Amino acid sequence: MILRPVVTELEVHDIRFPTSERLDGSDAMNPDPDYSAAYVVLRTNAPVAGGPDTPDGPDSAVAEGHGFVFTIGRGNDVTAAAIRSLRPHVVGRPAPYTATQLAALHRDLTHDSQLRWLGPEKGVMHMAAGAVVNAAWDLAATYAAKPLWQFLADMSPEELVELVDFRYLTDALTRDEALAILRAAEPGRAERAARLRERGYPAYTTSPGWLGYTDEKMIKLAQEAVADGFGQIKLKIGADLDEDLRRMRLAREAVGPGVRIAVDANQRWDVPEALRWMRALAPYQPHWIEEPTSPDDVLGHAAIRAGQPVKVATGEHVANRVVFKQLLQAGAVDFVQIDAARVAGVNENLAILLLAAKHGLPVCPHAGGVGLCELVQHLSMFDFVAVSGSWDDRVIEYVDHLHEHFTDPAVVEAGRYRAPAAPGFSARMRPASIAAYRYPDGPEWRGRVPSTPHTTSATEHPATTERTAPTTARTTGGNP
Ligand SMILES: [Mg+2]
Repeated sequence: MILRPVVTELEVHDIRFPTSERLDGSDAMNPDPDYSAAYVVLRTNAPVAGGPDTPDGPDSAVAEGHGFVFTIGRGNDVTAAAIRSLRPHVVGRPAPYTATQLAALHRDLTHDSQLRWLGPEKGVMHMAAGAVVNAAWDLAATYAAKPLWQFLADMSPEELVELVDFRYLTDALTRDEALAILRAAEPGRAERAARLRERGYPAYTTSPGWLGYTDEKMIKLAQEAVADGFGQIKLKIGADLDEDLRRMRLAREAVGPGVRIAVDANQRWDVPEALRWMRALAPYQPHWIEEPTSPDDVLGHAAIRAGQPVKVATGEHVANRVVFKQLLQAGAVDFVQIDAARVAGVNENLAILLLAAKHGLPVCPHAGGVGLCELVQHLSMFDFVAVSGSWDDRVIEYVDHLHEHFTDPAVVEAGRYRAPAAPGFSARMRPASIAAYRYPDGPEWRGRVPSTPHTTSATEHPATTERTAPTTARTTGGNP
């Protein structure tokens, strides 16, 4: 008799990239992000089955699962501690490979009777649970020798609904309704998977739109994005209306009428301010306004959607499936922006994909940061093959940033994400990168002084969390 393998260790790393040193991307409100990952490795005593070869050499003879929470620097240690607190649920547990086992792990992690007090189901503890859940999915998909999107898309509708925690959802989505959505998509799965492998999944780029770029740089990057095959770009806005009107006009002239321009306020406004701003920008036909106000303000989003003509997108900071449910019930959004590392992992994102499918709303994931493109591409691809069955009006965000640290980096060509073929969740960082950027003792951090809080500007300007320095990432010293 073969004993079932178990998880033998939960290993946590505080990994930070010193991207704040040379930001040329720009967000006047957030001058100092150090893109970071509270990174978890589940080790097992199971033999590798079809596991990926890493460029740093075969790193283990046993199966592993990798996952992470993305943060922007300070607080990464808090998140790492939260992940460690989940160790008793995982170490010694049989390695979860099936839908039933992955569902049980997700429920154990999100319903710990004492840790749940810290949320419930929101914030650091919930994100930590998501990292461990995602690591378990990486382990299971790797063991099955399939990329995660395919591993999910090969599950039966019955297995997939088993993965979802329907508690708090059944007034909006029942198990039977979810089953009907998945069964309706079942006949077309093979054809769509073939089309996905052949054509890739639509992407858009945020690279031209950082708030502090000169007009010349913004125009040049916008034109390059179009030449690279992107049908959509995104501009950061929200600091100064006159400036935004000017940049929007220039961007529209640069890309022409046929390319979509989304705008992103990163939670900057109160509701009346959002209405005033977007009514003024509307003549330039923004494709959507992203995060116009607090991610918790469901009714505020509804008022913004009703009170001005531009479609509303949000979700990268939405804490859980319950708030997504309310955004949909309230008619508050046009685009659902899931994030792979904000909610409790694959299982909760599956619930959100099903909610969006029931409402007929497109899911356009948030990505960028470090590793978010790598993860979330799998969820959109699975949605296309087995849930919504459509990629119309759907795009995954892309930023050309820090991909070199991953063993199976996201690849975007001609404005589309190529479907990953390697087994797993594309979550694995190169061992050399983990060693080099471990905070505070990795070689890349020795002798460096971490950036300090900008308390004055933080008071004047409400915090936002998304920003990127595309060239910074490529020029950060010592990248392997
Ligand atoms: Mg955003």
